[in-house]
Amino acid sequence: MKKYNFSPGPAMLPQIVLEEASQGLIDYNNTGLSVAEISHRSPIFLNIIEEATALVKEIYGIKDEYDVLWLPGGASAQMAIAPMNLVDKRQSIATLETGFWAKRAITAAEQICRVNVLATSKETNFDRIPHPKNWKLSSSTRYFYVVSNETIEGIQFHQFPSVNVPLVADMTSDFLSRPLPLEKFGVIFASAQKNFGIAGITCVLIRKDMLTNTVRRMIPNIFNYRTHIEHHSLFHTCPTFPIYTSLLALRWTKNQGGLDKIHSQNSEKTRLLYEEIDQNPFFKPIAVKEDRSVMNVCFRGISPATEAQFMTFAEQNNIVGIAGYPTVGGFRASIYNAMPLENVNVLINAMQTFATENEHSIS
Ligand SMILES: *Cc1c(COP(=O)(O)O)cnc(C)c1O
Repeated sequence: MKKYNFSPGPAMLPQIVLEEASQGLIDYNNTGLSVAEISHRSPIFLNIIEEATALVKEIYGIKDEYDVLWLPGGASAQMAIAPMNLVDKRQSIATLETGFWAKRAITAAEQICRVNVLATSKETNFDRIPHPKNWKLSSSTRYFYVVSNETIEGIQFHQFPSVNVPLVADMTSDFLSRPLPLEKFGVIFASAQKNFGIAGITCVLIRKDMLTNTVRRMIPNIFNYRTHIEHHSLFHTCPTFPIYTSLLALRWTKNQGGLDKIHSQNSEKTRLLYEEIDQNPFFKPIAVKEDRSVMNVCFRGISPATEAQFMTFAEQNNIVGIAGYPTVGGFRASIYNAMPLENVNVLINAMQTFATENEHSIS
């Protein structure tokens, strides 16, 4: 039975990626070996990780100005590791409190350095990107931290802050989804399970000049970016199968024909879904128009009863993974790169059929 999976993450992958990954798990390229039972230092695996790194660079059009690392611990680990490596004792970071993932990063960074939160949209339950009244950064600011897409609240930066320090960005839920003004970014990290693979691996891009100053802090080797750069992400036994799956997803991503093309496909899916939410009398959007995420579409039913009914109706139609996060409620359709337009149309059609069948209840 085909399921239409709108899960926020781990999220659906292209069918071809799942098929190739399962083949590789059993017999990698007719070697008689599983890709999961070979050394992370073997030539076979070195080719895999090198191709994955090269593809990230190729898709973003970057050369050697960034080091690309593959690290365990998820984006959550990077929320602590980035300030540990980049911010000296007397320095601080600046950020905006945009939602759940910004809050987690603020808490993590506060254990390491001072964090200046310039603005928050807490008062409106994070339905928008806050606009600070004052963009003046303290002279001790090392970097400006952004969550490019708040996965839980469904809001996204469509324009990145222009500030006089580098941006450090958690792009877990919109990595490889659109072209970027790369010159603004010192560090970008993204765990794989939303847009380019399975849980267990995080891709970290570090612009080389970010590490030229020595931070006077004891950084355990395993948390030190320099260690991983020096060892080409092989300091420890890296999660080999997740990296292989990311390679397959990256090849698929490259075959989509570039970030501009991917972005316009994604935008079209989001436009159609929001069009339905905006006009269907049983549903209403959560995020303000100008900050709506292209990846996670959050919406509510007009009453708790409607929400319960539509949840059941969706399940009957094999639509899964659309429950909103408890702090937001309602529904969230996560439509990352791998989500085909046809599947978004299945959800839209279900919303239309639901409205027709329930018309009497609100007329
Ligand atoms: C899912 C998500 C995370 C959490 O990633 P982990 O790999 O679980 O640490 C962090 N940030 C954003 C924006 C996310 O969407």
